[in-house]
Amino acid sequence: MREILLNVEVIESLTDNYIWLLVNYHDSSAFVVDPGEAPAVLSWLKKRKINLLGILITHHHPDHTMGVADLVDYYDIPVYGPHNSPEKCITKKLRENDDLILHGIRFSVIEVPGHTNDHIAYFSSSPLDTNHILFIGDTLFGGGCGKLFEGTAQQMYSSLEKIKRLPQNTLIYSGHEYTLSNLNFAISAEPDNNKLRKRYQDDRQKRNKNQPTLPSLLSLELDTNPFLRVSNESVISAIQKKFNINDHNEQVIFEALRKWKDIF
Ligand SMILES: [Zn+2]
Repeated sequence: MREILLNVEVIESLTDNYIWLLVNYHDSSAFVVDPGEAPAVLSWLKKRKINLLGILITHHHPDHTMGVADLVDYYDIPVYGPHNSPEKCITKKLRENDDLILHGIRFSVIEVPGHTNDHIAYFSSSPLDTNHILFIGDTLFGGGCGKLFEGTAQQMYSSLEKIKRLPQNTLIYSGHEYTLSNLNFAISAEPDNNKLRKRYQDDRQKRNKNQPTLPSLLSLELDTNPFLRVSNESVISAIQKKFNINDHNEQVIFEALRKWKDIF
C-alpha cells in the first residue's frame, strides 16, 4: 500500500454539529463533509495551510449545507451530494453504488433515506489504519438514529439494515453529538444491557472532558444502539410492554421504538 498521510479531523460547529474533514497531510489537501457554516471551515484550513478539494453533502438540511456557497466561492470546487437533493449547489449527483475517489481512496455511495428523502452515506472499505470509514450524516448517531422528517419508518429501517451489513470495524462519523441523550433513552429500552451501561460511563467521561464521542465503531453500535437491535429479545419485550402489543415483526418494533424516542 502506498504511503498516504490520511486523517479524519473534526470541526465542532453550530450547537452540536460535527463537520468532518478527510485530510491528506502529504499534500495538505482536504475534502469537507456537510459544512453547515463556512467561517469555521475557512479558518481551520487557513491556519493549517490546507487546500480544499471538494465538498461532500449527505442530505439537504441547512445545518449541513449552509457553508457550501461561501466555500465554493472561495475555492471553486465540486460539490458531491444526493441525486434527488433539493439543494441547487450540488454539481456531482450521486446514486447507490456510485464510486468516488478521494485522496486515491475509493468511497462508495449508499442511499439511506428516512431522515430525509435525499440522504446518502459515503463508505470506504479501504483501510485507514485498520478501520473502514462511514460518513453517515443524520441517519445513524451514537446510540441512536435520525428523526423521520421526510421518510417513513420502513425506509429508515431498511437504510439501517444496509449499515448493519458493513464490516463491524467501520468507524461511524455522524453529523451531531447526540450520544449521551440517545444512550439515556437506550438504557430505558434495554436496562439490563451491561455493554450499554459501560458505554454510557465511557462516553460521559469523554463529554466531561469536552471530547467528541464520535467516531464510534459499528461493533459498539450493534451492541448498544437499540435502533440496530430490533431483532433482539430485550428490545422486543420492552416495546411489547410499553405499547401493549404482541408483535415480533422487526419493522413494527422499529417504528414503535422511533415513536417512543420521539416522545421520550
Ligand atoms: Zn438533518
